[in-house]
Amino acid sequence: MLQALDFHALPAAGPVGLAAAFEHTRLMPFWLDTPDAPAPTPPLLESTEADLLVVGGGFTGLWAAIQAKELMPELDVVLIDAGRVAHGASGRAGGIVSTSIMHGLPNAQRVFPQDIERLEALGQANLDGFEAALARYGIDADVEWGGEMTVAVDDAHLATLRADFELHRRYGHRVELLNRAQTAEHIRSPLFAGALWSRQRSGTVHPAKLAWGLRRAAISLGVRLSENTPLTAIHERGDRVEVLTPNGAITARRVLFGTGTAKVGVPDMNRRVLTVRDHVLATEPLTPEQLSRLGWARRQGIYDTRTQLNYFRLTKQNNIIFGGLVSYHYGGQGEPAVDGNKETYHRLAAAFYRTFPQLADLRFSHAWGGPIDYCSRGSVFAKPYLGGKAVFVAGYTGFGIGASRFGALMGLNMLFDRASPERQLDIARLSPSWIPPEPLRWLGARITFHAFDGADAEGGWKRAWIRGIKALGFPM
Ligand SMILES: Cc1cc2nc3c(=O)[nH]c(=O)nc-3n(C[C@H](O)[C@H](O)[C@H](O)COP(=O)(O)OP(=O)(O)OC[C@H]3O[C@@H](n4cnc5c(N)ncnc54)[C@H](O)[C@@H]3O)c2cc1C
Repeated sequence: MLQALDFHALPAAGPVGLAAAFEHTRLMPFWLDTPDAPAPTPPLLESTEADLLVVGGGFTGLWAAIQAKELMPELDVVLIDAGRVAHGASGRAGGIVSTSIMHGLPNAQRVFPQDIERLEALGQANLDGFEAALARYGIDADVEWGGEMTVAVDDAHLATLRADFELHRRYGHRVELLNRAQTAEHIRSPLFAGALWSRQRSGTVHPAKLAWGLRRAAISLGVRLSENTPLTAIHERGDRVEVLTPNGAITARRVLFGTGTAKVGVPDMNRRVLTVRDHVLATEPLTPEQLSRLGWARRQGIYDTRTQLNYFRLTKQNNIIFGGLVSYHYGGQGEPAVDGNKETYHRLAAAFYRTFPQLADLRFSHAWGGPIDYCSRGSVFAKPYLGGKAVFVAGYTGFGIGASRFGALMGLNMLFDRASPERQLDIARLSPSWIPPEPLRWLGARITFHAFDGADAEGGWKRAWIRGIKALGFPM
């Protein structure tokens, strides 16, 4: 039987050593490094009108454009993106897809305990719609419904798993609580003391293929897409909104902002969303022999229980995608330049080799970072602006692949005043709280991320600080 090992006592890298492990690493998302990426549409070079303007071509914007055309085919819909579809968070995600629209059941219980059943039902309906849309538009996004697993990396975390197990069972989830030996039958790591194994409909996707498939679907429905077309200014013009771009303008009856962490001119948006950077590694594809050292037969998406958590999954070609080292940069800078920091990837690689010491001969093919739209709710919100003519949809806090379809629909229902079940609930009625401005934001984030790094192993003031932040209502 595998023995419990001290995470920090394990070797940080295998025989290949860190320098060799990164010898051929490309600093870009694994998902985007393919000739399959569609050529961008031309930028907008004129002034035009629309019933609905969607700003942002990530999952939120794409789902908004598609669902708008499906529900209200008469609408003329324009979609613009500052860069290219899938080049924001959506094409950088780990790709674990979940049924929850609330960033998991424990977070739903934390935020809206009175509505859990209805939020669960909305999550199920959302995933039904997700699957049906993929089938309807013939989108091949390498979906594998292998389930989700939360692994305890320490005996001390088993109590949390047990509580989560009871919670999931209470709401009818198909879950199992596994001990160390049973966990090793699903995935082998000396760190894993137990697991919560959910066979609920969840699993993994290729995020860029998903985004490109949705892009194709939107265009086929008549959505007018202009890439490389950033919004530069917004003006209210009576019952319309005028959005300026470098070489044109769009005057629209309604605007849906699916711009994630980007600041697009309505200051209140930035007060509710904090941009953090998350980081990811992709390994070379595993050989069948390397794969057999893991025993990962169900190919489920996995998260661990650490405060500074890691998540991992397999790609269709059996690369391991290993993510999860969050950082904050002053002013919420989200530029790819901050992703070039070698030390960040070395720390992430050390976590990888400690988790899977049996894969010490494996190297990394890709390393990248991406923006997370963190909010106090820890899950999506839609907030109206400009007297209800615009709505901003964001706040997924790192869990938006499935939830973005729901978030986009909630935004559309608000914009067009459509009766819908979520509008009866606090998820649509309330907004997450303000996050203090700079420099307090930076200071708070610096201390929190410093505390993250040692909270589990060292405890002390670090654990107390994390508890304090949680008590203020922020998800950790
Ligand atoms: C590293 C990482 C790992 C993740 N892993 C997972 C995971 O495993 N599972 C999961 O469910 N979620 C995960 N997520 C979260 C998920 O990727 C996001 O919640 C989701 O992609 C958000 O989509 P979005 O459309 O709201 O934002 P984005 O994809 O960021 O799209 C916003 C778009 O707006 C555009 N834009 C910005 N400013 C302007 C402007 N002025 N004018 C026009 N366009 C503009 C941008 O170019 C961008 O394309 C992860 C995120 C990251 C960064």
